[in-house]
Amino acid sequence: MKRTLFFVGPWDLNRELPCVPREANEGRVLLVESEAKGSALPYHRQKLVLVLSAMHHFAKELRADGYTARVTRAESYVAALRAEIEITKAERVVALRPREWGLERALEAARDSLGAPLELFDDGGEGSHFLLSREEFRAWADGKRQLRMHDFYVWMRKRTGYLMDGNQPIGGQWSFDAKNRQHARGTQPPRVPRHTPDPLTQQIMKRVARWPNHWGSVEGFGWPVTRAAAIEELDHFFQFRAESFGRYQDAMLQGEAFLWHSLISPSINLSLLSPREVCERIQLEFTRGSLPIESAEGLLRQVLGWREFIRGIYWRRMPELRTANLLGATRPLPDFFWEPEKTDLECLRQSVGHVRDHGYAHHIQRLMVQGNFALLAGVDPLQISHWFWAAFVDAYEWVELPNVVGMAVYADDTFTTKPYAASGNYIAKMSDYCKSCPYDVKQRSGPEACPYNSLFWSFMQRHRARLSQNPRLAVLYKSWDKLPQDEQRATLSTAERFLAALQPPEAAWSFDDDAC
Ligand code: SF4
Repeated sequence: MKRTLFFVGPWDLNRELPCVPREANEGRVLLVESEAKGSALPYHRQKLVLVLSAMHHFAKELRADGYTARVTRAESYVAALRAEIEITKAERVVALRPREWGLERALEAARDSLGAPLELFDDGGEGSHFLLSREEFRAWADGKRQLRMHDFYVWMRKRTGYLMDGNQPIGGQWSFDAKNRQHARGTQPPRVPRHTPDPLTQQIMKRVARWPNHWGSVEGFGWPVTRAAAIEELDHFFQFRAESFGRYQDAMLQGEAFLWHSLISPSINLSLLSPREVCERIQLEFTRGSLPIESAEGLLRQVLGWREFIRGIYWRRMPELRTANLLGATRPLPDFFWEPEKTDLECLRQSVGHVRDHGYAHHIQRLMVQGNFALLAGVDPLQISHWFWAAFVDAYEWVELPNVVGMAVYADDTFTTKPYAASGNYIAKMSDYCKSCPYDVKQRSGPEACPYNSLFWSFMQRHRARLSQNPRLAVLYKSWDKLPQDEQRATLSTAERFLAALQPPEAAWSFDDDAC
C-alpha cells in the first residue's frame, strides 16, 4: 500500500468524508493552522476559536481511535503539505476539493511541486459533503437563461423526495413563506444552550485572545466544537425551537440574538453535521408530527435549497463575483459595522452588537437590517462582503460572497431580478427596535425621520434609470411621483445629510482574499 497523507481542510471535519481514512492504518492525517489564512482577514476571535478548536478536537478524536493525526502550524497550507510530504515520504496526498477559490487555486498551482501526487475528491455528490457535485449543479444550470433559486429548489425537492408526495410537494405548495412572517412581540423566546468550553478550547481561547488585528472577544464563546456537541445542538433545536421556527423566522427582538433559530450553520459549514442528515431529520420530525409543514419546509429550503444553490453560484461566478458592482457603489463601510456603539439607529446597534458579541446574527438581520443598509447607502460591495466574511462564525467566502453580492446589495444579477431594498417599514413590522430608537419610522424627511426611509427613496432615485424598467418596481416610482416636490426635496436632502455624516472605521483592517 502506498504511503498516503490525508489532508483534512478546516471545513472537512467529518469521518464520512473521503479525505479521512476509513481505517487507522491507511495513512497519516494532517490538519493545518495556516498563518496566512488566519491573518488574511480580521476574523472575529470567536470564529478563530471555533475553527481551531474544532480542528484540534477532530485530530484528538482520531488519535484516540489509533489514527496518526496531527495539527501543524505553518506559514501556509501548501508549505505545511510540502514539509509533511518531505518528512513522512508520503507517496500520495488525498484531499477534498477546497470550498474556497483561493485554496483551490493554491493547491492547483502547487500540484507539480508538492513532492507527491495530489488526488482531489469532489466536495459534493454521493459520499461527500454537499448534496450535489459541482458537475451536477453545472448540468442543472447550463443552458438556462436565468438561474432562479425557486426552480432549483423545486428540482432538488423532486430529485431527493424530501417533503414530497409523489411528484407534488406535501401541503400543496413549494413555499410557506407567507405563513412565516409573524412578529414575536410579547412572546418569551426559548432558552438556547451554549456549550461550556473544555480545557482544550480554553487553551485556544487564551491563545486567540492575544492575537492582534482581529475583531471581537473570545469571552462568551459557546459554539459546538465537536460532532457530539453539534448533534446535541441539533437535538435541542428540534426538541424546543423547531416547532415555532417557521412562524418566527423573520422576527427580531431587542437583546435576543438567537430566538428560535437553529444555530446549526456553523456546524454544517465545518462538516460537524452533514446537510444530508439535517434534511433526513427534518423529514423524520415532520413525519412524526412534531414539526408543522411551515417550519419543516422553511428549514428544508435553507439546507436543500439556498445552501446548495449559493455554493453552485459561487463556483459558476468566481472570480468575477469579487469585483461585481452592478450599481457602481463606492462608499466605504461605515465605522459602526465594527463599533456598533457609534450608531444611534437601534436596529443596526442591536444587530451589529449581536455579531460583535457572538459572531452571529440571524438571516433577516443580515439581509434586511445590515445588508439593506449597505445597499441603500451605496457601500462598496467588496467592503460589506469582507465584513460578513470576517465577522460571522458561519461565513466562508463560498457562502457569504454570493449571498452578499448577489442578494443583499444587488451587485450581481445572476440570480436576482431586483434589489431587496426596503424602507424602515419592514423592520418596524418584524421587530420591536423602533420603539427604542431616536428616529421615527413613520417620518420620511427631517432630522427625526428613520434614515432607512430617506435612504430608500434616495436609492430609488439614484438608480431610477435601471430600476424603473422593472414592472415590480414601477408602482413605487408612481407613488414617489405623486409626492409634492417639497417633500421629495426634503426627503432627498435628509438622505444626503445622513450619508455625508457617515465615517469610515478608524482601524485600518486589512483583507487578502486569496491568502491561505
Ligand atoms: Fe431602524 Fe428606523 Fe426603526 Fe430606528 S426607526 S430602529 S433606524 S427602522
